[in-house]
Amino acid sequence: MTRQYDAIVVGAGFGGMGAAIELNRLGLRDLLILEREDDLGGTWHVNRYPGLAVDIPSSTYSYSFEPNPHWSRLFAAGDELKRYAEHVADKYDLRKYMRFGTVVTGASWQDDRWEVVTDNETFTARYLVTATGFLSMPKTPDIAGIESFQGKVVHTAAWEPTDLTGKRVAVIGTGATAVQLIPELAREASALTVFQRTPIWVSPKPDYPIPQVLRTLFARLPLVQRAVRWLGSSILELMMISGVVHYKQLRVANRLAERWCRAHLHRQVRDPELRRKLTPDYSFGCKRPTFSNDYFRTFTKPHVRLDTSTIARIDASGVVTADGRTEIDVLVLATGFNLWDTNFPAFEVIGRDGRDLGAWWRKNRFQAYEGVTVPGFPNYLSLNSPYSYSGLSYFTTIECQMTHMRRLFTAMHARGAAVFEVTQRANDQFLHRMRTKVTQNSVFSLGQCATAHSYYFNQHGEATLLRPTSTISAHRAAGRFPLEDYDFSPALAATGAAA
Ligand code: NAP
Repeated sequence: MTRQYDAIVVGAGFGGMGAAIELNRLGLRDLLILEREDDLGGTWHVNRYPGLAVDIPSSTYSYSFEPNPHWSRLFAAGDELKRYAEHVADKYDLRKYMRFGTVVTGASWQDDRWEVVTDNETFTARYLVTATGFLSMPKTPDIAGIESFQGKVVHTAAWEPTDLTGKRVAVIGTGATAVQLIPELAREASALTVFQRTPIWVSPKPDYPIPQVLRTLFARLPLVQRAVRWLGSSILELMMISGVVHYKQLRVANRLAERWCRAHLHRQVRDPELRRKLTPDYSFGCKRPTFSNDYFRTFTKPHVRLDTSTIARIDASGVVTADGRTEIDVLVLATGFNLWDTNFPAFEVIGRDGRDLGAWWRKNRFQAYEGVTVPGFPNYLSLNSPYSYSGLSYFTTIECQMTHMRRLFTAMHARGAAVFEVTQRANDQFLHRMRTKVTQNSVFSLGQCATAHSYYFNQHGEATLLRPTSTISAHRAAGRFPLEDYDFSPALAATGAAA
């Protein structure tokens, strides 16, 4: 007989842990957190490439209810994030719910409960939360001959410590990951060739060590760190969000961000041709910009080369482009993640009346009410949904979703109900509002995004990842959404209908 839990959470990263903390606060104690990796931390457990760090200030990139006064820098390194995740799991006693090395293959709503199938067991629960991350399915580029390469191939999301001293290294990709990795590789490799298809907007990174005296102050007076968080978040909001989602009204913020990045490039690279190659031809914010103080400068080193010609194929010992051939020993794939083809959702989710979430999204547009619930999927919270990513810090998204859960579950319990489902009408209205904002206000429609190759856009060319509102508005909606947007009902068992 399968064991029934109050809730099953899929994913033990910051999203899944935030959901579990909130469920605990709501009185749900019998939880199961399923995680395919061998430890907790999500992205910060999986990614171990050299240079890994947050590219959002750490005071912002953390739970507001669990500030960490011990960050060593303004932008903490990846291992500090992993330690922070462990601290959260311990402090909120979450490890007892976690099962590692467990791959969920499907979930279906049956008789008012979720049946969750893993590679070797089946579980049931009243509620299902998927927190499988946006950037969790590494993308291997579809380049002819890549399998024939005889040297070492490594994807940034599956990094293995490798001695690159004296090696000829190639990197494919120039996204936020590559920006962190390339300066590190350049320190070791004898020759480094970077294959760029689309340049990235890079701004200076105001990254400094946080002196011990300040850390002590943060620990003793959390309000001071709260003020720093507020300041960092406000700057990000102005630069990254206002100029992107409110592009129509605040085009000037967008232009300023572009100028800031161009000036940064100009300061670090004197060669106009190299500068031209490193300058994006799409509007700031069409794709994820990033911060770095040494990325551009790295390309001025004599053993580092930027190659912008199209890769034709890879053979046993090198990369072939229209312009020639580059012999290499190690090929690094900084090629990112597959979101829209394989990760929405990360496994088959079957709701009421056999509705298949992945098929339904593809047929009817990617959508989720307030980026968290979907009509036809009772008692289901999908944390990595269309229009869910709010603000630039993933923690904004998580905390809005926690607030949404609090309001939803509190209302359900007050009604003596056990099943919730968002109404089709509320979902349709939300989708209409989001689409209107994207098309009428955002850089995604009004800017020049055609050449950005951005994962913010789905396979139908719609920008359905980011919530096109300010962070304040996202928080407000999470705490105040109309309760009539949900149908609440007792469980079948309570009405005797399940028998
Ligand atoms: P990404 O932004 O998707 O970049 C992938 C890169 O690979 C792009 O430059 C892409 O070029 C290139 N590429 C993919 N397939 C290719 C092909 N077949 N041929 C040539 N080039 C190819 O992925 P990422 O750099 O891993 O970053 C993903 C996200 O992770 C970031 O946007 C950010 O949100 C997150 N991240 C966060 C932090 C943090 O500190 N919080 C740090 C690192 C990363 P095109 O652009 O032309 O497709």
